[in-house]
Amino acid sequence: MTEQALFCWCRAGFEPELAAELNERAAIAGHPGYARTERGSGYVEFLCEDPAALARALPLDRLIFARQKLLRLADLRGLDPRDRITPILAALDAAIEQGAPALYGELWVEHPDSDAGKPLAGLARSFGNALRPALRKAGRLTASDDTQRPRLHIVFLDGDHAMVAVADTRDASPWPLGIPRLRMHPDAPSRSALKLEEALLTLLDDEERERLVRDNMQAADLGAAPGGWTWVLMRNGMKVTSVDNGPLRQALLDSGRVDHLRADGFQWQPRRTVDWMVCDMVEQPSRVAERMATWLREGWCRQTIFNLKLPMKKRWEETRVCLELFEHQTHRPLVIRARQLYHDREEITVYARPR
Ligand code: SAM
Repeated sequence: MTEQALFCWCRAGFEPELAAELNERAAIAGHPGYARTERGSGYVEFLCEDPAALARALPLDRLIFARQKLLRLADLRGLDPRDRITPILAALDAAIEQGAPALYGELWVEHPDSDAGKPLAGLARSFGNALRPALRKAGRLTASDDTQRPRLHIVFLDGDHAMVAVADTRDASPWPLGIPRLRMHPDAPSRSALKLEEALLTLLDDEERERLVRDNMQAADLGAAPGGWTWVLMRNGMKVTSVDNGPLRQALLDSGRVDHLRADGFQWQPRRTVDWMVCDMVEQPSRVAERMATWLREGWCRQTIFNLKLPMKKRWEETRVCLELFEHQTHRPLVIRARQLYHDREEITVYARPR
């Protein structure tokens, strides 16, 4: 068993970004330490003096490159495939002595969402079925799922290497591996539709979605073609002005709820304030951030969701610089949340509105 650590899932290939983000944010939060990771692994561990305190100081919704945040309680290597349960129960007993919860409301057995991790899916499934009754018998798991209690995560990194970790369900993704399983709708004009759906699902809470995503709201979509984001806005009852020189899917135009403007998304502005402005233009992130700030500063929209494309190296630095630029140029206090969504590739998605 080794020391406790913060453990976060991320998109495979983006470990350096998450490591850099954790290094910086942990230091600012007064818990300096160091990140440990391997490129392509899909996770980052962060070691410091008091990982439990760090986990509390860094809420998941403030992290951009983390899909999930766990507190690792034990790292079990060299497990005997004939009995992996006994050492896990022993590790849990030891962790309780150090202040870990004694009773969990759910068990999730996971494996990295990476090329190396995917073959562990079968083991994770069957092991979960074996461990669940053993945990109940040992009094460590509630008889039925209880999402109010801490959740136990067993993470297989290899057949003989598992980690025991805990999630605080009030501050953790509600999806295994932090991946929302959204289905592509057959009518959606592009796969990008899933990005905006996921953004509305993860960057807004239930109360905000109810209050801020409403029928007959006015929206503008910059860089709209072929129309995936426009389609999501329209499905949420909005009327959309879609700005792009490229063609939009005909069904959108036929709906009577979409106006297509062949114009430059960096020049166009609405005549009246719109409820939502979304933007998926492929452009330099600093240029997009600056234009988005102008929209909020000038009051052209009440809120926005936009993507920042990050094709360069040093993507964490670029992210930080662009978000600082955006906040600074908006000239007003903002609610701002940014995240690399599951459906994002080399990009992040930002939600913002004036406070
Ligand atoms: N969100 C769209 C969807 O869901 O189908 C996909 C958008 S695609 C990634 C990027 C779009 O940005 C392209 O259609 C491109 O024509 C448009 N674009 C790039 N620069 C633009 C500009 N200056 N003004 C308007 N559109 C622009």
